[in-house]
Amino acid sequence: MKPAQFDYARPATLAEALSLLSDDTQDAMALAGGQSLMPMMNFRLAAPDLLVDLGAIEALRGISEQDGLLQIGAMTRYAELARWPDLAARLPLVARALPHVAHAAIRNRGTLGGSVALADPAAEMPAVLLALGARIALAGQAGARVVAADDFFLGHYETARRADELVTGIEIPSTPQGATFGFHEITRRHGDYAMAGVAIARGDGLRIVFFSVADRPVRAPRAEAILQGDPTALDAACGTLDDIDFAGDLNASPAMKRHLAGVVLRRAWKEMTA
Ligand code: FAD
Repeated sequence: MKPAQFDYARPATLAEALSLLSDDTQDAMALAGGQSLMPMMNFRLAAPDLLVDLGAIEALRGISEQDGLLQIGAMTRYAELARWPDLAARLPLVARALPHVAHAAIRNRGTLGGSVALADPAAEMPAVLLALGARIALAGQAGARVVAADDFFLGHYETARRADELVTGIEIPSTPQGATFGFHEITRRHGDYAMAGVAIARGDGLRIVFFSVADRPVRAPRAEAILQGDPTALDAACGTLDDIDFAGDLNASPAMKRHLAGVVLRRAWKEMTA
């Protein structure tokens, strides 16, 4: 399949990009790594009049630190993040999860901001960011704002981002001393989207986030409370997972997702606490 005809712009500044995206006379979409958008256009699931390529906007790139927050530009590619020398020390959970995001060729182009904006419920990074208590930085014609990951992912491919806003970056709090992390996913083949997965951060509190089991990455508050009180109470924690509104997909029914959620939690937790 080929995409429907479209115009293309490659602005050099965020202001120019926001101006193009807020023009009501044309249906414009942002282009980041294109690893999801280009297939969607080829299948005619998306047919924008104008593609606004974010690739030349320097302000959307790079990793920096300010006021105890790591700031990662939206256009930072997975592969760039994986090559960041401080990744394992500063963001061990991201380091664990990154190799599970698609294949190397896709990680060479795909971006963190693109993954967050797309909000695929099976994607690893939204769940990891939720587990880390990250915040999503947004900018629109009306100004900039920051939304906690807890409030950002609203449903299947649905987020708190307004149509005229861009994700500009991700803010991640510094890892507390002594924090531990867990990650596990089950896939049919390595590199495929997960059938079910979990990302866990245990620092000042405990955050357990499942992905590819519901319409968005979801926390499991009752399981968190049980395991925080008694790290050996895995059976009891798994027994509370019915709280999650499991959603089936091409890979598995809701009942199968419920089962797999228990499996990934057990495996990740046992590895963390071994
Ligand atoms: P694009 O494809 O360019 O854009 C995606 C959407 O987000 C578009 O609607 C675009 O308009 C919007 N957008 C992009 N950037 C911004 C921004 N800064 N602000 C506002 N809107 C924006 N992902 C996983 O997580 N796990 C996997 O296992 C996985 N497997 C894959 C397997 C295959 C075969 C393919 C093709 C993709 C797979 N992906 C997987 C998706 C991949 O990670 C994508 O790169 C990612 O989801 C989107 O990032 P992108 O930079 O390519 O965004």
